[in-house]
Amino acid sequence: MKFIIDAGHGPETAGKQSPNGMREYEFNSSVAAFLTEKLLTLNGISVTHVHSDQRDIPLKTRTDQANKLKANCYISIHANAYGTGWNTAQGIETYVYPSKPREAWELAKKIQDELIKATGRKNRGVKTANFHVLRETEMTAVLIECGFMTNKEEADLLQTTAYRKLCAQAIFSALIEFYRLEWTEIPTTKILYRVQAGAFTQYHSAEKLAKELKAKGFDSYITKTTE
Ligand SMILES: [Zn+2]
Repeated sequence: MKFIIDAGHGPETAGKQSPNGMREYEFNSSVAAFLTEKLLTLNGISVTHVHSDQRDIPLKTRTDQANKLKANCYISIHANAYGTGWNTAQGIETYVYPSKPREAWELAKKIQDELIKATGRKNRGVKTANFHVLRETEMTAVLIECGFMTNKEEADLLQTTAYRKLCAQAIFSALIEFYRLEWTEIPTTKILYRVQAGAFTQYHSAEKLAKELKAKGFDSYITKTTE
């Protein structure tokens, strides 16, 4: 079972922020990380991120990567906005493509239910939209709006680790149930998290960072890829 997790936008995306300065990407990427951590404790799951903490990855790059991997499910995580200043628009909604692909529609309903149950926020329901990530993905795809950055109460929530974890847990529960994922947890001693410190087009830059890391006592090695 291959999951694509897409934290919407990037750290520098203009305009995507709450009136008090929280970047939408901060929320999206944090929920993505908590959700990934949970998914990777299960057997037979792979998770690929199509976002980056360094830059805003174009939507086409994201969906091309998902299609190339022949993933089973694409989860796009967002926080909503209505206008640019504070207002009363609030709640959670989940989107699927206007043709309402059956599996996506059912999964969206499940995710929406779990999110409302977990957070107690206003239920705006499952909706349809012709969004790129829903249209251009060749797999079951949903886009989740976990609350409004332009609603003061929700903006405060969106900035807490507790609310981010709650959203991740709710999405995770929905996925477990919907796909009947194996509960057998992999012993944590068998999981390897790789940390990447940088990627460079110049070999000497990579070598310089590797040396710095070594000097600070970290093991490091250089690998070469084409992307
Ligand atoms: Zn967004």
